[in-house]
Amino acid sequence: MGFFDRLFGKNKHKEDCNCGCKEHEKKANVNVGDAPKTAAKAAPAKAAPVKEPPKEAANPLDAFPLLPGAPPGGKIKLAIYWAAGCGGCDVSLLDTDERILTIGDMADIVMWPIASDGKESDIAAMKDKEITVSIINGAVRNTENEHMVKLLRQKSLLVVSYGTCACFGGSPALANLVPGGKDEILDYVYKQCPTMKAFQETQKAPVIPQTSVKTEDGVITIPELYDVVKSLDQVIDIDYSIPGCPPTQESIRQLLAAVAAFAYNGEALPPKGTMIGVSSKTLCDECPRKKEMKRITKIVEPHEIDVDPEQCLMDQGILCLGPATVGGCGAKCTRAAQPCRGCYGPTSVVTEMGASMFTAIASLFPVLDKDPICGEDDIIDIMASVKDPLGYFYAFTMSKSLINRSVKEKGGQ
Ligand code: SF4
Ligand code: SF4
Ligand code: SF4
Repeated sequence: MGFFDRLFGKNKHKEDCNCGCKEHEKKANVNVGDAPKTAAKAAPAKAAPVKEPPKEAANPLDAFPLLPGAPPGGKIKLAIYWAAGCGGCDVSLLDTDERILTIGDMADIVMWPIASDGKESDIAAMKDKEITVSIINGAVRNTENEHMVKLLRQKSLLVVSYGTCACFGGSPALANLVPGGKDEILDYVYKQCPTMKAFQETQKAPVIPQTSVKTEDGVITIPELYDVVKSLDQVIDIDYSIPGCPPTQESIRQLLAAVAAFAYNGEALPPKGTMIGVSSKTLCDECPRKKEMKRITKIVEPHEIDVDPEQCLMDQGILCLGPATVGGCGAKCTRAAQPCRGCYGPTSVVTEMGASMFTAIASLFPVLDKDPICGEDDIIDIMASVKDPLGYFYAFTMSKSLINRSVKEKGGQ
């Protein structure tokens, strides 16, 4: 049995593919569950070439060729799921412009809540590993997120952790800094914040969402929040990661090129664990600003100074997480005179991004023997001027930090 027969199975094309294409009907088809975990290199007959775009393309997707119809073995199955995130990652996939149509040529989209009508029950009814690729964005912060990502893992050959929330917890994981967990968050959001407080005062009893409510039409349930927000790999096994808030078009292109080469030409997929769209260096290495490693005596926000368009932002006293952030985005923020906030996450040699950044800043204070301008009090004053240091240094990576949540001491505040 050939590679695509093993990948897609035989004689199921008509029941599984609803594209109506006569070309497809001639071809054997779909049972991804039989596929090997690591695709062997194999070349199906008459495979369509998948060209790599020229490296110099201004917009990499502009040069990415529209693919010539469905893969030789029939469409692959693709699921896209949005867990705890803002939706930007889902929208970034639509940034493929008209190439979204080629994704439709290549794949039956079995789930994509923002764009199609696949239901949880449809996924549950599928065979294990029947979905070729599941692209999951968002962190895991409630029972529904956990159920869905575990279900998609079970039904998928490959799972891609897509975007910073999925890879590192992202912004949702800042909830881990609330010591009282979900109870404290719900209490503030529904009782203490000024607008809700005014509303609650008009009610006989506080109105707070319940996970289960009986109504005339039956019981309505909503997912239960967790106290700790987790990254995707803390809940399920993943095959590839694509960081970014959201990932860049170039990252999406690399993912699509790998999937297309796999589906059309039977080429081997990248090794398990590959981080797609990142470089082996730090963001500073791809930032065009001139870095002189000036020592800083004051921390400022970009709007407080006339930002020099060529000089390193750190040299100008603006906190920039470039030294601790992995390269890959092309220094999008620093090119626009905004500091890097670290959305791509740490480099492979850094396990604790916040601590790494603290160290980088500490090295910039002028406290060496030869020019001891700053005393201890001065340093404390400078650091105190960093507004919300935990929120700044762990804005995207809280779930993956060594201490990944605040807790209340027993009996304490
Ligand atoms: S990584 Fe950024 S764009 Fe994607 S869901 Fe999270 S917050 Fe939104
Ligand atoms: S501006 Fe930021 S990313 Fe650019 S060189 Fe300076 S510290 Fe590095
Ligand atoms: S410069 Fe930093 S914050 Fe901005 S996109 Fe790149 S990694 Fe993310």
